[in-house]
Formats: sequence, C-alpha cells, structure tokens
Amino acid sequence: MTVRPRLVVASANPDKVAEISLVLKGLVELEPRPPDLPDVVEDGDTLEDNARLKAVAVCEATGRAAVADDTGLEVDVLGGAPGVRSARYAGDNGDSAANTARLLSELHGIPAGRRTARFRTVALVRRPDGTEVMATGTVEGRIAEAPIGDGGFGYDPVFVPVEGDGRTFAEMGDEKHNISHRGRAFRILARRLAAYD
Ligand code: IMP
Repeated sequence: MTVRPRLVVASANPDKVAEISLVLKGLVELEPRPPDLPDVVEDGDTLEDNARLKAVAVCEATGRAAVADDTGLEVDVLGGAPGVRSARYAGDNGDSAANTARLLSELHGIPAGRRTARFRTVALVRRPDGTEVMATGTVEGRIAEAPIGDGGFGYDPVFVPVEGDGRTFAEMGDEKHNISHRGRAFRILARRLAAYD
C-alpha cells in the first residue's frame, strides 16, 4: 500500500487552498493551517524566499511537514513587475481589484502583442528535520485590456493563457488547473515527494 505524504497547508488564502487541494487530491493528504497562527510577513526578495518563510513558520509552529506556495505575475513590458510584489502592487492590503486596476492602468495604450506575461509559482515543502522539496510552475500568457470572468481569484480576470482558446483564467473554472502555474508546480512537487519517500 502506498502511504501518501501528509502536509499542513501554510496558506490562509481559501482560493489557493481550494486549488492546491484539487491538484493534490489522491496524491497528498492535506491538513488545514491552524487558525491561531499569526500571519507571516512575506518580505523575501524572491518567490522561493517567501514560500520558505511561510513553510518554515508553519513547520516550526506545528512540528509537522508544511507546504507553502508563493506566486508572482511577471509582465515583460514592466520589466517583470509586479513579480514578487504581486500581492502588494497597489498597496499593503493585498486588494485584488486594486492590484488589477493598477496593472491595467500601467499597461494603458500598450498593444496586445506587447502585453506578454507569465505566472510563476514556487511550491515548497519544509520538514521538521530541515529538509526541503521544491518545485516551480509557469504559464505564459498576455494581459487582457479589461477584466473578464467571475471565476478564479487575484489577477485571473485579466490573464489570457497562450495555451487556451482566448478565455481568461477567470472564465475557465477548473480547466485552469490543467495548464496553470500552480497546477504545474504542485504536480511536480507531488512527484518529487513520492520519489523522496
Ligand atoms: P501570493 O502567492 O499569495 O503572495 O500571491 C501573490 C499575488 O498574486 C496575490 O495578489 C494573488 O491574488 C495573486 N495570485 C496568486 N495566485 C494567483 C492565480 O492563480 N491567479 C491569479 N492571481 C493569483
């Protein structure tokens, strides 16, 4: 019988946790983050630093292996911004509507061919013995002229993946996970965990 790895999810974001649970279903047993843990200040310089900050905090608090992800949206014409600062692009409160509005305003007048971008996710497991397993996932796309769609979260209404049919991630429902940065990162992570155990 295969024993599935058990991980505490470091994220408190219900949208993210739902996506991670769907992608890892049947591969990894996930436990929710204890509700009394304080928020982690995500002040790392890279996605990997921030994923590690979150995973280490939850691993140390619970004494269990913990998994975290950190995601950035990299827009080429903005030199890779907002990148690691994606959550705080329009201020410290992490307001998705304000972040998206700022992005659209920075790209005002930029033609479709120059609105190329990608999502990048780093998924990282930290174990109590200090060992780590990490995986990265990316998806290429472009930034739409205006938000379309009600699904997903964050920047999904303005992200049109290259591998799709012109719909934004917010119009795709669960199809998003087949090609998304997070889907890819967590599927690779699950394979690496299975190879390690
Ligand atoms: P973090 O990984 O929670 O720090 O997310 C960084 C920023 O990217 C936040 O503003 C999220 O809302 C946004 N974000 C993270 N993952 C996704 C996604 O899958 N689609 C759209 N936006 C996302």
